[in-house]
Amino acid sequence: MYLIGLIIYLVICYLVADKIGRHKKIGFTKTLIACILVSPFVGYLIAEGSATAEPRGCKWCGNSENEAYFCGVCGKNEEGDIGPHFKDVQK
Ligand SMILES: [Zn+2]
Repeated sequence: MYLIGLIIYLVICYLVADKIGRHKKIGFTKTLIACILVSPFVGYLIAEGSATAEPRGCKWCGNSENEAYFCGVCGKNEEGDIGPHFKDVQK
């Protein structure tokens, strides 16, 4: 009956790699290997900590790694509005 547990374990590993790792820079294969070798939970944390594979970037300051709605460097969104937490800094 260990086979059922093994199959469930591998399915959880696959789901973490497919749903999280595939959309991150770490990728599907490395996430799947981390899940199988260590544990799906640790693999999930590693994948979640990896940067997004296709960040939205920022056209105002050229920060190509930006993932947030408001850019982390210049604080602008795509329309050029400055985020609420950046207005205080630029006074
Ligand atoms: Zn920016």
